[in-house]
Amino acid sequence: MCSRPEPREPLRRVAVVGGTHGNEMSGVYLARHWLRAPGELRRPSFSAVPVLANPAATAACRRYVDCDLNRTFTSAFLTARAHPDDPYEVTRARELNQLLGPKASGQAFDFVLDLHNTTASMGTCLIAESAHNVFAMHLCRHLQLQSPELPCRVFLYQLPGEESYSVSSVAKNGLGLELGPQPQGVLRADLLIRMRALVAAALDFIQLFNQGTAFPAFEMEAYRKVSSVNFPRTEAGELAGMVHPQLQDRDFEPLRPGAPVFQTFSGKDVLYEGEATATPCSSMRPPTTRRALPSSRRRSSRSLCLPCPAGPRPAPAPAPAPAP
Ligand SMILES: [Zn+2]
Repeated sequence: MCSRPEPREPLRRVAVVGGTHGNEMSGVYLARHWLRAPGELRRPSFSAVPVLANPAATAACRRYVDCDLNRTFTSAFLTARAHPDDPYEVTRARELNQLLGPKASGQAFDFVLDLHNTTASMGTCLIAESAHNVFAMHLCRHLQLQSPELPCRVFLYQLPGEESYSVSSVAKNGLGLELGPQPQGVLRADLLIRMRALVAAALDFIQLFNQGTAFPAFEMEAYRKVSSVNFPRTEAGELAGMVHPQLQDRDFEPLRPGAPVFQTFSGKDVLYEGEATATPCSSMRPPTTRRALPSSRRRSSRSLCLPCPAGPRPAPAPAPAPAP
């Protein structure tokens, strides 16, 4: 299970990243705006740096150019010898590793907040590596309390033993925000406003941490992936069905064994074959043309009730030496 060391010093080097996927427009437009006017990202104890992560994919309004940037921050990609034929995103990951990392080093940024949209009806989803990251869990809790009337779920993406691969994994600590539903390449005002408020609240939380604020223990519901299910395909690999109409827009609602998941274009229902009730999410994303993409699958997750210990605090500054 992944566990990052909890911060013991104030967080000074913070980045807010948009455009990791070039067609998720809330983060793209916010990052572009903050690159022109970064004052909104300043707090008394630090100034967050805005970053447009994938400029080429953003210019083309595509998720990526050659491969998914948010899967390329592994040691294999980051440490391999550079080659002219490397995919654009692999080269860009190395550049971002120089800017925000190097990954797993003492020089890495203290925190990266990575902004995403989804076409799925997931509302606000906070994407953390693991519940063992106590700082990120307290940040999630803080964000949930900002607008308690709005669903704001916590999704733990990293599987036990799996190497971290996202842009935020380059920093010492990080969190992803994923807001939806929003079509790819489209900007919805409500989601941009919500994302902007969440970023402001996250920076406020870091400011509170830097001030030495105490964060008491709590319990939190979180979701963890249990499986991925591919959309139905023909033998030639073409899409053969869609999310079942009874499941459409029902992310995070319980899915019981035997309930319909997909409907093929010939009208046949494909049923959920799991043995226990699960929670589908990211399920309404239209499948893309490449079979191997995660976006051609629906995720099945399960909720957990997690205890979270009291939050870390910066070590107190050493007392000044007594005057001679
Ligand atoms: Zn994304």
